[in-house]
Amino acid sequence: LNRRLAGMGTTIFAEMSALATATGSINLGQGFPDTDGPEEVREAAVRALREGRGNQYPPGPGVPELRQAIVEHQQRFYGLGYDPDTEVLVTAGATEAIAASLLALLEPGDEVIAFEPFYDSYAACIAMAGATRVPLTLRAPDFRPDLDELSALITPRTRLLLLNTPHNPTGTVLTADELSAIAALAVEHDLLVVTDEVYEHLVFGASVHRPIAALPGMRERTVSISSAGKTFSFTGWKVGWVTAAPELVAAVRTAKQYLTYVSAGPFQYAVAEALRLPDTYFATFRSELERKRDLLDAGLRTAGFEVYEPQGTYFITTDVASFGEKDAYAFCRALPERCGVVAIPNSVFYDDKEAGRSQVRFTFCKQDSVLEDAAERLQRLRA
Ligand code: PMP
Ligand code: GLN
Repeated sequence: LNRRLAGMGTTIFAEMSALATATGSINLGQGFPDTDGPEEVREAAVRALREGRGNQYPPGPGVPELRQAIVEHQQRFYGLGYDPDTEVLVTAGATEAIAASLLALLEPGDEVIAFEPFYDSYAACIAMAGATRVPLTLRAPDFRPDLDELSALITPRTRLLLLNTPHNPTGTVLTADELSAIAALAVEHDLLVVTDEVYEHLVFGASVHRPIAALPGMRERTVSISSAGKTFSFTGWKVGWVTAAPELVAAVRTAKQYLTYVSAGPFQYAVAEALRLPDTYFATFRSELERKRDLLDAGLRTAGFEVYEPQGTYFITTDVASFGEKDAYAFCRALPERCGVVAIPNSVFYDDKEAGRSQVRFTFCKQDSVLEDAAERLQRLRA
């Protein structure tokens, strides 16, 4: 393994899911639903396979049906207009969109400012691009970005801001004011913005997801990324996409060509249908997840966790210091044996180890009975 990837041997998600399997624990670690997405979308995939649509290499930018559906989705939810031929790229999940964007847009030595705790692939892809990550720490209990701090982190080497809203793992959803301030800095310093919005439809209460691409001066400098995994509960399908101005899409497409060339064909047709589901699908999905958030939130509080209520995503971040454990990773390694539950230590997503030392993340995208069982098991921690 080269020096760029030193220390990135196995992702924390793979490690903790393996631990769950090995110990027979309830896996509230890696974020994937235990109920598959809509039946009609699955049927659409089967139909595409049977009818021979996408069984051979699909077009590099993605099948036209899906590119058109992505354009309609951006218009319907955000009033953003994109050209399906020049401003959309289908990728192998958001993961490839992130990798291809960073590999295409960064020069070695460039600095990238990203929130920490950061989704783990950001650190790896910035490293593979030979660039340097500069963290802006989101701190408990509110996990809001300090915009003066952001301004102070910008140097002549800063090339790109890597945003994630709703944010994994803290559940922070950037407000209109925060987005405006970030956009103003991007314009002032002529920075690119890559924004990971895979949780765009998973927002709760009064929080609203707003794409930064919709702000003045941002459309031409923003690469927006999303995926079907979270919105439609098909994390195994790995269909993602990029929307951006033509020059940016062309750059990302150049990198994508040599990473995967194209993305899996039949699933693209099915995701095109998913993106056209009626508004009620999105609203029901959101309220169901919000209810699950509340269920797990209550269970964790009863079990003695300090809980930071998320505004979006699949995840609840907690602090485990109240259990006399300062090290989140040690806590998570021991948790299966103590009570048969698996979680993710947020500490591995920070450069500032002190800031996230005792934070542990639990996912709530599981059946109610599983969440209830886990909450009951976690009560044993205090026994
Ligand atoms: N970004 C974030 C913030 C995520 O949490 C995830 C996956 N859970 C991804 C990207 C990757 O998405 P995909 O599975 O579509 O590659
Ligand atoms: N994004 C998912 C999570 O945060 C995991 C995806 C992965 O394993 N790379 O749990």
